[in-house]
Amino acid sequence: MKFALIFNPYSGGKKSHQFLPLVHKRLNQPQNTIDLFTSEYHGHLQQIAAALNVEKYDAILTMGGDGTHFHVLNGLLSKNKAHTLPLLGIIPAGTGNSFVKDLDIFTVQDSLDAICKMHYKWVDVCSYTQGENRVYFVNNLGLGFVTDAVRKAMFFKRFKQAGYLIGVVLNTIGLTFHTMELTVDDQHMCEQNCLLAVCNSRYIGGNMLIAPDARLDDGLFDIVILSPLSRFQLLKALPLIFSGEHIHHPAVRTLRARHIEFKTRPEKQLSPDGELSGTTPASVSIHPKLLRYLC
Ligand SMILES: [Mg+2]
Repeated sequence: MKFALIFNPYSGGKKSHQFLPLVHKRLNQPQNTIDLFTSEYHGHLQQIAAALNVEKYDAILTMGGDGTHFHVLNGLLSKNKAHTLPLLGIIPAGTGNSFVKDLDIFTVQDSLDAICKMHYKWVDVCSYTQGENRVYFVNNLGLGFVTDAVRKAMFFKRFKQAGYLIGVVLNTIGLTFHTMELTVDDQHMCEQNCLLAVCNSRYIGGNMLIAPDARLDDGLFDIVILSPLSRFQLLKALPLIFSGEHIHHPAVRTLRARHIEFKTRPEKQLSPDGELSGTTPASVSIHPKLLRYLC
């Protein structure tokens, strides 16, 4: 087998390199060849992926977190049609590693087992446009509270998953709402909003079960909407997200759709797969079973 391994040494609080010996030990077999590409600066992951000669490989492996995979995915799809891509694999060496949990991959070892077996499943991919660009994501797209928390969490990355929690708490202290107009398939709504998450997979920020019923291959995304509530109500409800029980909270609404459009007042930043990319308005679509992921 011939693998391209795209490695982000900045993932997981710059600790992702600790898994490299294990990865080499498992994959460096006589029947395998590995081309290692290491990201050296901001924007490099996407450049590496865009320049890759994808036809040379049986699988393209990303070693890092959700953000690493996001940049690799967008680099790959900026230059290649989806059907020309080989199998994709994720070695979870990041902070949250939310998306891979839905592929039943919880550790680096799980991922290496899947790569050795070359077992895969077809997975839905979502996208939205920002001007001329199409942005792809596989985990979720957030705006409002969830995005503001991501932005704050970036200052606390060294605390790993606790960093995201710190972002959430700080954001609760400075809680704000926005006006949102949204069209979900054919249904039009206008309301005050705290948070919108368009979810392809179930987890966010590592182990928060934001969309407990989401499936990676049903051709639909799960939409989670949080309406305005007090700081006290929010703090009381927050722990429910770890078990997915928050979806029964009176301020939370869930929908399932193939297409969603939204605009907000004021303009809000968007966070696809835990990264910051673009602002409202946006129009999001799902591409059913677009890519094959090792699992
Ligand atoms: Mg789905």
